[in-house]
Amino acid sequence: MTISAPVPVATPAPGRHPALAATDPELAALVGAEERLQAETLRLIPSENYVSAAVLEASGTVLQNKYSEGYPGRRYYEGQQVIDQVERLAGDRARALFGADHANVQPYSGSPANLAVYLAFAQPGDTVMGMALPMGGHLTHGWGVSATGSWFRGVQYGVRRDDGLIDYDQVRDLALKERPKVLFCGGTALPRTIDFAAFARIAEEAGAVLVADIAHIAGLVAGGAHPSPVPYADVVSTTTHKTLRGPRGAMLMCREEHARAIDKAVFPGLQGGPHNQTTAAIAVALHEAAAPDFRAYAHTVVANARALADGLLARGFELVSGGTDNHLVLVDLTSRDVPGKTAAKALDRAGIVVNYNTVPFDPRKPFDPSGIRIGTPSLTSRGLLPEHMDAVAGWIDRSVTAARTGDEPALAAVRAEVAELMAAYPAPGLPV
Ligand SMILES: *Cc1c(COP(=O)(O)O)cnc(C)c1O
Repeated sequence: MTISAPVPVATPAPGRHPALAATDPELAALVGAEERLQAETLRLIPSENYVSAAVLEASGTVLQNKYSEGYPGRRYYEGQQVIDQVERLAGDRARALFGADHANVQPYSGSPANLAVYLAFAQPGDTVMGMALPMGGHLTHGWGVSATGSWFRGVQYGVRRDDGLIDYDQVRDLALKERPKVLFCGGTALPRTIDFAAFARIAEEAGAVLVADIAHIAGLVAGGAHPSPVPYADVVSTTTHKTLRGPRGAMLMCREEHARAIDKAVFPGLQGGPHNQTTAAIAVALHEAAAPDFRAYAHTVVANARALADGLLARGFELVSGGTDNHLVLVDLTSRDVPGKTAAKALDRAGIVVNYNTVPFDPRKPFDPSGIRIGTPSLTSRGLLPEHMDAVAGWIDRSVTAARTGDEPALAAVRAEVAELMAAYPAPGLPV
């Protein structure tokens, strides 16, 4: 029997979305239910966050109504008096925050942003290189099931079996042998600091364009909690909705010499009109990320992840690479005798939201791998501190044990404890 997590009661959020509730009570109730779910659960998916009320407001504005194909000052539609200013503001703030020569804030999301990079620097059939998906890379870094792995010849590097770290000599050997046009670094399940300088040396020697995909860690970079790739990479690609705590969107930053190629690839190469309400919300998020308290946020995200890793290690969990330097922890559950998917579903029933994930050299299949991936960006946005992480590790431990023994009451008990702590730390942007 499969028991699923309780479905939250779909009640309209009173007074919160009045127009929506009047026009479409059914959808308003679903939004209310999602708000409740996000408020009551402990969200540990490392690619998620809670945006501020200001970012939420900016992304729900009449800027949504405007078509603006082109770039500020060179549009294909009239009436851009305001939109041009919005997009310039977002671009200026991105350049200032990351110290980049050029920023394009139009990509619809991280995957289209990366596709634009291919369009700018490679031809179909060319060799491209990135980290293998099951090792912690992203689909769009040339993995087979992605268009980037079928339109291009993707060659893939990984991590070492013994310590779970990138072997830069191995990356160099592969790059010199394969001579990729584009070399991606960065990923989705890398718990350790990326050595951008080492990648830059390899890319230079191999004659490749170096792309640093900082989708996961952009907020840490902005807040000074992870080294910046900007001095080293030809192009920096990032989503805006993960640690950066903005709306769902993306940005491409690059050296001046590549600005034209990147802009042409995004529009008209790949996209039509930019999503101006998203551009506005990105501008707000960048403004928030430039404030001093965002530096504290970024450092606390890392301190929380380290404390959580320590709490898990103390309870006998095995962590890929033995710990973390950033916002995420990759847990190998093999020694606990629980498959990743079983654990993730049990944790969901306990009010702890994670995702199952492959671990490097995983003997299990990707749809039911050996690991779970957990991260601290969301709980840190709620104000949780390292002193809370031992309790979180304890809940994960009890839930994983309950997953193995089928102990549903134990999961319900954890769920109640989680809800109590979450009620004490309301999330940004959500009703209290
Ligand atoms: C999340 C992510 C992406 C893709 O972003 P989407 O917005 O989901 O398309 C690309 N690269 C990396 C490294 C990511 O973590």
